[in-house]
Amino acid sequence: MKKRIETRCVQGGYTPGNGEPRQIPIIQSTTFKYDTSEDMGKLFDLEASGYFYTRLQNPTNDAVARKICELEGGTAAMLTSSGQAANFYAVFNIANCGDHVVASSTIYGGTFNLFSVTMKKMGIDFTFVSPDCSEEELNAAFRPNTKALFGETIANPALTVLDIEKFAKAAHAHGVPLIVDNTFATPINCRPIEWGADIVTHSTTKYMDGHGAALGGCIVDSGKFDWNKYADKYPGLTTPDESYHGVTYTERFGLAGAFITKATSQLMRDFGSVQSPQNAFILNLGLESLHVRVKRHCENALAVAEYLSKSDKIAWVNYCGLPGDKYHALAEKYLPNGSCGVVSFGVKGGRKAAESFMKHLKIAAIETHVADAHSCCLHPASATHRQMNDEELVAAGVSPDLVRLSCGLENAEDLIEDIEQALNAI
Ligand SMILES: *Cc1c(COP(=O)(O)O)cnc(C)c1O
Repeated sequence: MKKRIETRCVQGGYTPGNGEPRQIPIIQSTTFKYDTSEDMGKLFDLEASGYFYTRLQNPTNDAVARKICELEGGTAAMLTSSGQAANFYAVFNIANCGDHVVASSTIYGGTFNLFSVTMKKMGIDFTFVSPDCSEEELNAAFRPNTKALFGETIANPALTVLDIEKFAKAAHAHGVPLIVDNTFATPINCRPIEWGADIVTHSTTKYMDGHGAALGGCIVDSGKFDWNKYADKYPGLTTPDESYHGVTYTERFGLAGAFITKATSQLMRDFGSVQSPQNAFILNLGLESLHVRVKRHCENALAVAEYLSKSDKIAWVNYCGLPGDKYHALAEKYLPNGSCGVVSFGVKGGRKAAESFMKHLKIAAIETHVADAHSCCLHPASATHRQMNDEELVAAGVSPDLVRLSCGLENAEDLIEDIEQALNAI
């Protein structure tokens, strides 16, 4: 029986047997017991499936990863300790020292840093392109050693909307997978795999948990990218892994399982960015109500965006749900049921006015966070993006006067009254 997305939110990933716990149990154990060394050996050789050490796999984490996999329509998934770890693993799983990756320039500041500073130190080169670039510009960014194309469905905090089909077409024309960070849209509003993306990542810290309680990340593989067709380009997946008993991931696990098995048995083994089973349990509680909450976040954000767009104290508003927005047409295509709860805008009077406005807000608190039940706001130029110079800020779609407001699950009229009094108090 094909279950709709709301049912998958509640019941996906875990089906208890007779007399078993209704809720996903927290398996709070680092290790698992076996009767013989032979049994254990088979697990190490990836010949039998089972658990031996929570850094590699844990039943609670696996159940929650399976749920997110079902929500995104993938074939395999893994949880990570954070969204940062998810994006790092997703790229590093296929790009090595000497390789090159093309990424949208408006991605999250933390990911931009990861790519342009830390992964660059590891010898991986990145070219950043505007998400709005023409097909010609996009194609021109590829090199013979390019291994992936990366973008965000709705960029944080620039709120640009990715033309996923355009990006997928360019990636596939160059024989590389498209990786899409779907954190802001969530699979409730967009499932990038349906539009051609090959790998989807999440910071589950945001709407998926949704209560500001647990840091986490997730990688979902569509199983659609044919690594064998480009075997020379992806030897890590298509030739024996001597660090893992000579297993060839594509041979042993097929296209459906190769990418995630490699990321688990190599990267999780060596870097250990594992999500705690406690956090996975909390994440699952968030997932159960994701479809209810995301809808409300979007309703509140649209009401706030409409109010702001009419206010004479506001210089500009970015929200792709607004008919006049630059990304409205793309949003109608990729996000027909709503986009996200985050609105960005400029307060007239620039940086100073923005800071004064934020100080006077009573409901929305100033936080380095977005996308949970409590409304919050941030001035990226002086917080998450403060390492960028003015040029990089412009390329990232973050102007110095930009205020990012994450609309929570409070009453929309209360949010608007709060904004109104804070604007009047500047
Ligand atoms: C927050 C965020 C990340 C990083 O996630 P963490 O869970 O904070 O490590 C990555 N991508 C996007 C789009 C984000 O919003």
